[in-house]
Amino acid sequence: MRPSILNPLFADAVTLDGIGPRFSVLLKKLFNMPAEGHTPHILNLLWHMPTGVIDRRHQPKIAGAFPGQIATLAVQILKHKAPHGRSRAPYRIQCEDESGRLDLIFFHGDKRYLTKTLPVGALRYVSGRVERYGDQLQMPHPDYIVDADEFETLPLIEPVYPLTAGLSGKILGKALQQALAKLPKLPEWQDAAWLKKMGWADINASLTALHRPEDEADISPVAPPRQRLAYDELLANQLALAIVRSTLKKEAGRALEGDGHIRAKILKTLPFALTASQEETLKEIAADIAAPHRMLRLLQGDVGSGKTVVSLMAMAIAVEAGAQAALMVPTEVLARQHLNTLQPWADQAGLRLALLTGREKGVSRRQILTLLAEGKIDILIGTHALFQHDVEFKDLALAVIDEQHRFGVHQRLALQSKGRGGGANVLVMTATPIPRTLLLTHYGDMDVSKLTEKPAGRKAIKTVAIPHDRLEDVLSAVGRAMGEDAQIYWVCPLVEGSQKIDLAAAEERYAHLKQRFGSAVGLVHGQLKGTEKDTVMAAFAAGELSILVSTTVIEVGVDVSNASVMVIEHAECFGLAQLHQLRGRVGRGEAQSTCLLLYQSNLSETARSRLEIMRQTDDGFLIAEEDLRLRGGGEVLGTRQSGIPEFQLANVPGFEDLLSVARDDAKLILEQDPTFSTARGEALRLLLYLFECDEAIRLFQA
Ligand code: ADP
Ligand code: MG
Repeated sequence: MRPSILNPLFADAVTLDGIGPRFSVLLKKLFNMPAEGHTPHILNLLWHMPTGVIDRRHQPKIAGAFPGQIATLAVQILKHKAPHGRSRAPYRIQCEDESGRLDLIFFHGDKRYLTKTLPVGALRYVSGRVERYGDQLQMPHPDYIVDADEFETLPLIEPVYPLTAGLSGKILGKALQQALAKLPKLPEWQDAAWLKKMGWADINASLTALHRPEDEADISPVAPPRQRLAYDELLANQLALAIVRSTLKKEAGRALEGDGHIRAKILKTLPFALTASQEETLKEIAADIAAPHRMLRLLQGDVGSGKTVVSLMAMAIAVEAGAQAALMVPTEVLARQHLNTLQPWADQAGLRLALLTGREKGVSRRQILTLLAEGKIDILIGTHALFQHDVEFKDLALAVIDEQHRFGVHQRLALQSKGRGGGANVLVMTATPIPRTLLLTHYGDMDVSKLTEKPAGRKAIKTVAIPHDRLEDVLSAVGRAMGEDAQIYWVCPLVEGSQKIDLAAAEERYAHLKQRFGSAVGLVHGQLKGTEKDTVMAAFAAGELSILVSTTVIEVGVDVSNASVMVIEHAECFGLAQLHQLRGRVGRGEAQSTCLLLYQSNLSETARSRLEIMRQTDDGFLIAEEDLRLRGGGEVLGTRQSGIPEFQLANVPGFEDLLSVARDDAKLILEQDPTFSTARGEALRLLLYLFECDEAIRLFQA
């Protein structure tokens, strides 16, 4: 139960004056909240940070006001001059003070309203931009008009917030001021000495300084108020992760030690020997699984480094110990491919595999679930379908998550929690190196294994960037490659926000290539039915198709070793990580592979650098670093591409330092007060609620 002191903050924003259902929808859009989730709370408003201020402190006499600048003036209303008849002239109101005259200007002014708010003879404070018109001063549409009693309500420093189409700054500003008034006095959850050292005020004062600044400096991302809030969010994040992790580690107490008999059989059937790097990581994984705590390990290895077979060996350990394992992947195509690759090896080793995706329905799904619950399936491979609540294992000991960046924290936890006693060992695999900061914020402290070498015999992929005008040359090259029995991927880009257009582009290219090269061309895209996708992929894998035209369906993980040419159209539309993933689909066999990056002219600076980097290197680590650099520091946290949730407040300069303090702080808190029962512990619970760390809260309530 959420402590009642927080209730006002979790009240629906529509309870505020001026926020109706329509604005609530706009707020949701503004805050990037999922359409199906809850409507915005007052708290969501308070977390919305200003990005600038309007300074209304300049309060000159009329004669001393600078045209072009914002001023707040005390004026006496002299005369109303309404436009005649249908004249398009504005409504003018003549004002003065002892130094001079100024007109207030209203286009389409409403006479009734204006006579009421600005009656002749009255004194009014107006604030807005002053202009010169001929030889006279005027102020069109003042932002504020108040009388002497209301002067207090005129914000001399007015915060400016990011907006969204249809939402006015005025309404948002008003809502925020009301939201601020609802903020209850919250107890302190930060360590007093640390606050003092940083010169940070309490949370109430910090939020007030941000939403009711007294100076532009108050809202700066490096100033104490923002820094404190950033730290609050980071501490909540690190605490939540530490709680989840310590619960999982504590509960385990089960050492899984296989006798190696299945692994030995697998090794015997593999058509290759493991690389030294694969053996090394397997040793690390085996030791971790054998230890009496739960494993939370990241296996990092560039595309094509052979993570799949490592995961099979790891899962075999669980089976040798009499338990089960699961392999979760982001797409159905990939799930089926993994099954196809692993099945023959598994058969030889006596491992029982099964597949569970959105497509297994009805009887066949029930059958799988029954076998799984009875322990008659050793390894279950599948997509998001794996963590649905009715999927029950007899004894899940290891959950492997491939291409982890496609899954959210909750999805990982949902699968993990299917293990006995509420948690399985977890191995997450990624080709995209994750910067340490991201790792920390996503998983807390985590063990990392790296595949540092690729299987021997791989040849470097030749990468060429070619302007689209030279499509004909590309087609001839493709024709030549086909003559040498090569297989070709042809990728058409994903048009942001329009599956239709991107599909149309792929279909058009497909028709075009088919016309030229005949029936050896196939098409696969996201809109195809699962079985249709399989048929095409299987035909390509079997060598029946020479060219596979696709949208980015094939981006992740697909493995056809005979494919040696990758054509990427509109390469300028892809991010570096994505280009690298795509290119990684070739260069897996004996043949020399080529990647052709087709681009439209008028490349942006960044797009040009991206293509250049792709030409220069095939090293995923380097590429990831460059990617971060090109996306800029502010985007380091930018996880939009990778699907990791972003911070709302922590995105400030000095983030990394704050993060590492927060990590240590969280560790210390859990050591000293694991049940959150001290006064600070009680306050920290509030902090977790404020940042909606539900998973952690559930755990310490259990
Ligand atoms: P990724 O790390 O990108 O998931 P995969 O696991 O798909 O890579 O492996 C890429 C290809 O390399 C597969 O065809 C796999 O069978 C092959 N492979 C894996 N390990 C080795 C090895 N030690 N020697 C030769 N080929 C290997
Ligand atoms: Mg893979």
